[in-house]
Amino acid sequence: MSRKPIIAGNWKMNKTVKEAHEFVEAVKDKVPAPEIVDSVIAAPFLALDRLVADAKGSDLKIAAENVHFENSGAYTGEVSPVMLEDLGVQYVVIGHSERRAMFAETDETVNKKVHASFAHHLVPIVCVGETLDEREGGRWQAVVKNQVTKAFAGVPADQATAVVVAYEPIWAIGTGKTASSEQANEVCHFIRETITALYDLATAEQVRIQYGGSVKPANIGELLAQSDIDGALVGGASLQPESFLALVDAAK
Ligand code: PEP
Repeated sequence: MSRKPIIAGNWKMNKTVKEAHEFVEAVKDKVPAPEIVDSVIAAPFLALDRLVADAKGSDLKIAAENVHFENSGAYTGEVSPVMLEDLGVQYVVIGHSERRAMFAETDETVNKKVHASFAHHLVPIVCVGETLDEREGGRWQAVVKNQVTKAFAGVPADQATAVVVAYEPIWAIGTGKTASSEQANEVCHFIRETITALYDLATAEQVRIQYGGSVKPANIGELLAQSDIDGALVGGASLQPESFLALVDAAK
């Protein structure tokens, strides 16, 4: 089964609106055709309005880095899926390990956010992955299976096929340590098996699974050559236009 690669830059808390705008202007007409690769930038909330307008008519897609699960209400400082849909945002990163570790994101809130995203035509990019302790303690299967199972809870098969799962071993994020391609593929394959058990093989084969963790132009080719890796979620190396373009080009 051939799945279309999806390369998503995750800017985290970087770039002013002006810097974000300049980046999008520099890359938007150079990304590959959307029939070949999905090219996505996940940017801070403040820049989204501007970036959606900048990217309009191009093949670059814009993502939020988080979303709340309620449509509106007394949630000071939060941004709702209604607001993102209204702007024209197309994807949303959910459950990044930094949000799980620092902002009380749980498997339950991840699941609520997945449902809220589908209700508002946002494609969820759901992050899962184990810590170094969990890997060295031989617990990565249990951890990843639990995260995936809870993220997909109550999601019907026709929506499940649209979910993008990002496998990001926490020990490889921003550390310069990349999981070897074989290690990364082993977990991505395991994620597909987990989704097969939740649904069926036909559903699991449509789900795109990204690897994330110190991906850069020099190592993306080897990662994408693996059987179960369908793209990358990239932090540091997505901040420069040349490097982001090298990443999306490698997925062609
Ligand atoms: C990330 O932010 O999801 C990430 C993988 O970061 P980096 O590529 O910098 O390791």
